[in-house]
Amino acid sequence: MAAIPYDDRDGYIWMDGSFVPWRDTKVHVLTHALHYASSVFEGERAYGGKIFRSLDHSKRLHNSAKIMGFDIPFSVEELEKAKKEALEKSGLDSAYVRAVAWRGSEMMGVSAQNNTIHLAVAVWHWGDYFADKMKGIRLTHAEWRRPAPDTAPCHAKAAGLYMICTLSKHAAEKAGYQDALMLDYRGQIAEATGANIFFVRDGVLHTPTPDCFLNGLTRQTTIALAKARQIEVVERAIFPDELATFSECFITGSAAEITPVAEIGAHRFTPGHISLTLAEDYSNLCNGKLELAL
Ligand code: PMP
Repeated sequence: MAAIPYDDRDGYIWMDGSFVPWRDTKVHVLTHALHYASSVFEGERAYGGKIFRSLDHSKRLHNSAKIMGFDIPFSVEELEKAKKEALEKSGLDSAYVRAVAWRGSEMMGVSAQNNTIHLAVAVWHWGDYFADKMKGIRLTHAEWRRPAPDTAPCHAKAAGLYMICTLSKHAAEKAGYQDALMLDYRGQIAEATGANIFFVRDGVLHTPTPDCFLNGLTRQTTIALAKARQIEVVERAIFPDELATFSECFITGSAAEITPVAEIGAHRFTPGHISLTLAEDYSNLCNGKLELAL
C-alpha cells in the first residue's frame, strides 16, 4: 500500500495559534526557511496519550530557535498546551509529534532580521522507525562528517544540519543498509543520521561525548536508566579503530527509541543483555510502567 503523502491527510494541524484543516496548513514558496534552512524542529513520541519528556522537547525547541537567532512568539507553556491539544484532537494514543518553528516571508535574502516567526504542531501515527528493529539494524560508514562547533550551530535541532544526514541516509539505503555511522570533524565516532550511539564492552557502556552533535533526550534517558541499574557509563572520545572491541551497540532517539545495531561495516554486534534490558526499561518508562527521576 502506498504511503499517504503528508500534505494530503485528514485532521488538523495547530499553526500559529489555532487549529487549521490538515491540507490547508500551507506556507508560501518564498518562505525564508525553505531557501535558507531557517527552521528548527522537534520529534517526539506520545505513549498512552502522554508525550514523553514533552517539556524538555519544548524547552529544546525554544533553545534551538535562540541559537538560530530568533524567538518563538509562543511561550514554552503555550507550546505545551498546543502539543497536548493537538494530540487530543488527533484521537491517537501512541503517536509522533512534530513541532516546527521557522522564519516567514517578509525578507528573502540572507538577512531576515524582521521576518515573522511561525510555529506549527502536527501529530500522526508513526510505528517503529526501523522495521524489525530488535533484530539489530545494519549501519554503513557515512562519507559526511559532523561539523566542528565553530562551523555550524551543532547543538540546535536545526533543519540545515540534516542536509548531511539525508545525504548519508540515502547513500546507506542505496547500498542496502538501514542507516549510517557518522564520524565528526576529528574522525571520532559521532552518531547515526538521526540518533545517538552507544557501545558495550565488558558490561560497561561507552558513548561519544556530545560536543559537536545533539545530546539527545533519549541519550540522556538511557544514561539515567543504565545508572539506575548500576551499569557504568563512560562518555568519551571513541575512534573507529575501537569498533572491533565492542560486543553490543545500539542507537537512541525519540523516533528510533533504543534500537540494537547488528552491524557497522565489517563489524558485527550481538543485540545482547544490556541492549535488550535498556530497550525494555525505556519502553516501560515511556509507557508509565517504570519510575525514574529525570
Ligand atoms: N541526533 C540527531 C541528528 C537526531 O536527529 C536525533 C533525533 N532528534 C538525535 C540525535 C536524538 O535526539 P532525541 O533523543 O532527543 O530524539
